[in-house]
Amino acid sequence: MKLKAKRIFTKGSWRFVFQGIIVCMVIFVSSCARIPIESVSYPTRKSIIRPSAPVLRKNVLHTVAPGETVWRIAKMYDVGINDITRANNLNTSKKIKMGQRLNIPAAAGIKPVITLYTSQKWKYIIIHHSATDVGNALCFHGSHKRRGFDNGLGYHFVISNGTKGKQAGQIEVSPRWIKQQNGAHCKASDMNYKGIGICLVGNFNKNWVSQEQMNALIYLVNTLRKNYKIPLKNIMGHGQVPKAQTDCPGKNFPWVKFKMGIGK
Ligand SMILES: [Zn+2]
Repeated sequence: MKLKAKRIFTKGSWRFVFQGIIVCMVIFVSSCARIPIESVSYPTRKSIIRPSAPVLRKNVLHTVAPGETVWRIAKMYDVGINDITRANNLNTSKKIKMGQRLNIPAAAGIKPVITLYTSQKWKYIIIHHSATDVGNALCFHGSHKRRGFDNGLGYHFVISNGTKGKQAGQIEVSPRWIKQQNGAHCKASDMNYKGIGICLVGNFNKNWVSQEQMNALIYLVNTLRKNYKIPLKNIMGHGQVPKAQTDCPGKNFPWVKFKMGIGK
């Protein structure tokens, strides 16, 4: 009797172990199936896939903005340089032109690539609005060129309102920033020589700054002011610059919200 009971118990535990192995195998196989296909197709990117929430990747058509290189675009979309080169049949020089359309295979959500250069030059941050309903760095580059600005786009950064193919809150980096050139955004008080010019797309005399734009502005201003040790009193709107005669960045610009956002 004792022996029988022992045998039954042994059989049951083996069945339990066997069932456990099956369950583990099912979990393992189904977790493998959740690995995004693109991470298998593009093994070079594995090292830079972030371990946080899974990124929804998709193919994107990107219009090259002023100053952008394949390196910069690859960083923006978290893809390999070679993936862009292959998808667009670029030659080894990887030369691309402003306005050119590029296929970006398996692109992640766009993220800003803000290079911080060593410089003693930047003492102020000046905030503008474009005073237009729509726009992007490429549009403003063209219009500033037509207005006679030597290097085109007068700002150092443009923050999109989600028009002209850009996402709301997307930060576009101007060639003036990449080349560390003077701005062409604020003549008053010589701000072009010492102030970083940031333009929010929109007309804030009649519209409002979106949450996405405000979040991007706060992120950008804090990144810059901390790196260049710019005091809070030197962060101002175009219209607040001594001798400037403008209402830029518009009467609806939410100064209280902005100042609370950038902190101390
Ligand atoms: Zn302005």
